[in-house]
Order: sequence, then C-alpha cells, then structure tokens
Amino acid sequence: MSGLAIREINKAYGPINALSNISLDVENGKFLCLLGPSGCGKSTLLRIIAGLEDASRGQILLDGRDITNEPAHMRNFGMVFQSLALFPHLSVSENIAFALRIRGASKHVQKMEVERLLSLVHLPGVADRSITQLSGGQRQRVAIARALALKPKLFLLDEPMSALDAKLREAMQVELKRLQQELGITTFLVTHDQKEAMTTADLVVLMSGGIIQQVAPPLEIYRNPANAFVADFIGAANLMEGRVVSPGRVGVPGGTVAINEAPTSGAFTFSVRPEDLELHDEASHSSFFGHIAFTRHLGSGIEVNVTVEGMEKDVVVALPSRHESGLTVGRPVHVHVNGATCVVLR
Ligand code: ADP
Repeated sequence: MSGLAIREINKAYGPINALSNISLDVENGKFLCLLGPSGCGKSTLLRIIAGLEDASRGQILLDGRDITNEPAHMRNFGMVFQSLALFPHLSVSENIAFALRIRGASKHVQKMEVERLLSLVHLPGVADRSITQLSGGQRQRVAIARALALKPKLFLLDEPMSALDAKLREAMQVELKRLQQELGITTFLVTHDQKEAMTTADLVVLMSGGIIQQVAPPLEIYRNPANAFVADFIGAANLMEGRVVSPGRVGVPGGTVAINEAPTSGAFTFSVRPEDLELHDEASHSSFFGHIAFTRHLGSGIEVNVTVEGMEKDVVVALPSRHESGLTVGRPVHVHVNGATCVVLR
C-alpha cells in the first residue's frame, strides 16, 4: 500500500498514557493537521512518526515498509519545530545547505539548491545574510527551506508558526498550504489553533486525551462533528440538551424546536452554530425564549449572548452587523432555530 499507515500506536510515560491505540491511514500528498488542546498527545505522535521517540506499542509503515524501528536520520523526513532550531552562527545559505553538505553534495549543487529553495519559499536574495538579520517570518521560511532540502518523503511541522503575530501567521498558513500543494508532499502539522487547521488541512485529526476523536476534512468536521467534544472544540458551538415531545419536536428550556433528525424518544444532546440562530420579537414553530445578556462587536458581525432560564450556559448567536440596532442588554428575545442545521450528537 502506498502512503503512511499508523497502526495502533500506544505511548506511555510511566503512568501517563500519552497515546492510546492511534491508527491512521494517510494517502501520499495529503496535508494533515494534528489538532487538539495542549497535552492531548499531538507532539508525541509527530515525534513517533519522525522517529525521535519510540512507541510503547504499534507500527508505522511507509509505502508498505515497516519503519517503526528505523532511526530518525535514516527516515529522511523534513522537520520544522516551534523553536525553528536554525544555527545562528551560520548564514542563510549555510543553514539551508547544511544537510546537503553533510551528505557530500558539491559546492555547485549546494548553491543551486539554496537558490531553488529560497525562491520556493519566496525569499530570494538573502542567501548571504546572517540568521540574526532576518525577521521572524523570514526565519520561518528559512527553516522550511532547510527542512525541504533533502526532498523529504514526509514534511513534519510542530507548531512552527506559534511565535508569529496573528497577521503574519495567517499569511504563512496560506503560503505553507500553497507550497505543500505545489510540491505534493505528505505533510503533518501540529497545531492547537483550529483556524490554522481549517486553513491548511485536507484532513483534520482531532485529538484529546491521547485518542483520536475524529478524522475528517475541515468542512465536514465543522458541519458533522462526531461528538460533543469535537463540536465544542471546532468553532463555537451551542451544545444543548433536548427531550423529544413528539416526532421531530424537541423540548428545550424556554421553548420547543423542530429537529427532523431527533431520536424517536428520550433526552439527547445537539449542537447548533451561532450563525445558524436568529433573534426575533415573536416566537416561531422552532424557537425558545431568553434575554440578551451581552453583545460583542467583531467588525464582521455581532455576537450576542442570550441567557435562557434552565440552561447552564448562555446561548451564543452570531448576527451580521446590519442587525445591530436594538440589541440592548436585558431585552427579551426569541431565538429561532433552523432545525436542519442542528447536529444530533452521540
Ligand atoms: P501536545 O503536543 O498535544 O501538547 P504532548 O504530546 O506534548 O501533547 O504530551 C502528551 C502527554 O504526554 C502530556 O500529558 C505530557 O505531559 C506527556 N509527556 C510528553 N512528553 C513527556 C515526557 N518526555 N515525559 C513524560 N511525560 C511526557
């Protein structure tokens, strides 16, 4: 089989199970994001793929070949870490050509490769500069160029953009994605930033507590979260408790909503996105009642918190800016729910 196969990887640090039964099949050329809260095992999994850490149990196959026990330097994977780990006493070109030089490439080949890689990461003309003369974003690009110098089979990145400011980070995410598409190189990016994952990934691998919660393309993981953890972690979601009162009719605190996908009876949890809710003065066949508790202007729109008697948390409603007038705190409102946008959770 071609691609990377991760088979029931387990990793324990003493009593801590950092990874439990991680299995994943990755086609060549895909961009995967390992996403999840701090401590969920993302870096441990990446380091095991890289060969920098041994698994307690399990196997890793690359194009059908078992590489579980192959040392890191034999795997020829490109890596970029949060620290970037550039050599500060070497120039840009010496940094990028480092691995080529170790492998005995001629001066001429090194020079050509450095030029090719610098143009690939959109950083021409800085080959002779010292690393200390570069901005954060430029260093980032040099680290990426260095990691790609040996034409690696896998490109592994561990939160490489977390030190950049928000705007530069977003620009780098787009650039990284473009570069990956251009090269068609299988890529794993560790991040705790769901927006970063949504921007870059073909497949998001959402983890928590050392297990995989869901593997899916960004839009699918957003639209069809597998469980409450995923719904809550990916974007803002209102998680609500409902009880079926008749087929497709679900009682919630403050009202009744229409959800076709609801179970036939009993209590269950569903999630609904803030942008799929509306505020009105009147009730509808699918709405519940509450009071405005707080409003937040986000430039692109407004976020309104609605307190509902009997609900533990405020319900968050996202509205376009043009709906701004009259959103005074304390005002009674009916929250209209489009049942087709509700996701019933297991
Ligand atoms: P993430 O990258 O998602 O933040 P990590 O993979 O770094 O998470 O860590 C997963 C779990 O394993 C955490 O509980 C962490 O404390 C633990 N851990 C990671 N590395 C070590 C180590 N070298 N020794 C002991 N525990 C570790």
